[in-house]
Amino acid sequence: EEGMAKARSLLEGLGLRPSESDCCRTQQVCRAVVSRAAALCAAGLSAILTYMCRSRELECLVVNVAVDGELYQGHLRFREILQSVTALLAPNCKVTFVPTSDGNGRGAAIVTAVALRLVAQRHEVDQVLAPLRLSRDDLKRVQGLMRREMDLGLGRETNPTASVRMLPTYVCNTPDGGEQGKFLALDLGGTNFRVLMVEVGADGIHMASEIYVIPTAVTQGTGEALFNHIVECIMDFQLKQDLAGQVLPLGFTFSFPCQQLGLDKAVLLTWTKGFSASDCVGKDVVQLLREAAQRKQNLGLKVVAVVNDTVGTMMSCGYDDPKCEIGLIVGTGTNACYMEEMHNVGTVEGEQGRMCINMEWGAFGDNGCLDDIFTEFDLVVDKKTINPGKQRFEKLISGMYLGEIVRHILLALVDKQLLFRGKPCPKLQTNDIFPTKFLSTIEIDGLGLRKVQGILEDLELQASFEDSTLVREVCQTVSKRAAQLCAAGLAAVVEKMRQNQGLDQLVVTVGVDGTLYKLHPCFSQHVQQTLKDLAPKCIVTFKQSEDGSGKGAALVAAVACR
Ligand code: ADP
Ligand code: MG
Repeated sequence: EEGMAKARSLLEGLGLRPSESDCCRTQQVCRAVVSRAAALCAAGLSAILTYMCRSRELECLVVNVAVDGELYQGHLRFREILQSVTALLAPNCKVTFVPTSDGNGRGAAIVTAVALRLVAQRHEVDQVLAPLRLSRDDLKRVQGLMRREMDLGLGRETNPTASVRMLPTYVCNTPDGGEQGKFLALDLGGTNFRVLMVEVGADGIHMASEIYVIPTAVTQGTGEALFNHIVECIMDFQLKQDLAGQVLPLGFTFSFPCQQLGLDKAVLLTWTKGFSASDCVGKDVVQLLREAAQRKQNLGLKVVAVVNDTVGTMMSCGYDDPKCEIGLIVGTGTNACYMEEMHNVGTVEGEQGRMCINMEWGAFGDNGCLDDIFTEFDLVVDKKTINPGKQRFEKLISGMYLGEIVRHILLALVDKQLLFRGKPCPKLQTNDIFPTKFLSTIEIDGLGLRKVQGILEDLELQASFEDSTLVREVCQTVSKRAAQLCAAGLAAVVEKMRQNQGLDQLVVTVGVDGTLYKLHPCFSQHVQQTLKDLAPKCIVTFKQSEDGSGKGAALVAAVACR
């Protein structure tokens, strides 16, 4: 009614003399125009809301819409229609309209403030991550240091001072394809302990295997109990495979640093990767195994060879590819081996031929030569391990540690209010709660940030999109550094092999094993790219080994028997 009165006075102001029904019509026309405007506005807005809801994969979008403009503010009907039509067209969105005043002036100021905050935050994030980003010069230096340590490790007098042990393996030949027979193999020192039966024949290799759990109480108990347990597992396997009563040559993949005195004699130098069974360091592990077999009255064990898993990996790839003269592991730990000229191996008598050298490169840097690339995060992670100060190179590269490094960086970013709005994250304080496999998932190309949020939600972390992006960046930084360092080590190896042989160009294959290398979406790519850059005169092919530890141990035994 008020509107009717207003219509009359407006029309009269235009010099018209409207009737009752003229005023009514005028009012209807105004309503129709405004209704259409508000409904069209609602349609446009609903398109935005629905898109936001869908792209965020939400069932229900709860959102505020800031509105400015006199039409909206001053026209009750416009507001009502806008709101009700929006509710109809975007039923999954719970929208609250918030009127703003002077959006243009304040808004511009706020945009500027946000931009400045982001720049400042970016700067702070970069400061945190900068020490983890290695330059080409850094990597060249690591390569040079690795080369120096290799030379020291190979020299008879200098060996004790080298952080890279360069252990002789007494494996002097790679397979030639002529090996045959049935072998037992043990794989100890990885995530799983396995017993295998490997049949090497003219038509290839057939295997049967069984995984056995070694409880932490046993890996960290007495040596006697550990080796008793191993023999019990073998006996169980022999029963299951109908092998009882047969004496098969056995290859023992034992992936810990050993001073090898012969193919079947290996003195344990130190435990790594969480093992700490007592009374083993300084002893011949083959002897420990034989004694346990005696205690258990198992007469079917004939240990022919002890093999490091790197050697096993090289051998198993070498069965198919004669150019495979390097073995690399990037799994729980990291290590490498390669074929060295005997005249360079000062720690073993003899000048003729070649021998595979187990580098034990995980310990590279234990003498302090890498100290300047360790970050505060690496130091914290190292301190919490059971072997602080040891296996320094490994702790920058392998699966046992990358998740922990990421976790400590995330905690630091939260602490600096750069992540999760600085809210405390009690669950993230838990050791090992962020395993390295998370890096693989988070870094997969094209994986929606929703998935990243999902992983973080499991850790009771409410991650915004910015948070998820930052977490991904941290993971990428840590895994890239690991891959680049690994490549710097390899560059030293292939360059040495090239120089040994006096070649302008070396063509060689690396046999690789390890879940981190195999499953991480960019690790292998980064290794290969960086290696190409650091050792341009070497054409290096990478070949993933299938069960190098099992097959390789059997092949070493087979080559030895041949
Ligand atoms: P090992 O080195 O013990 O013989 P693996 O090669 O299987 O065994 O490596 C196991 C390690 O790989 C685990 O400790 C874990 O850190 C890491 N890992 C497991 N799954 C993944 C994954 N999806 N991506 C990256 N790393 C992984
Ligand atoms: Mg392994």
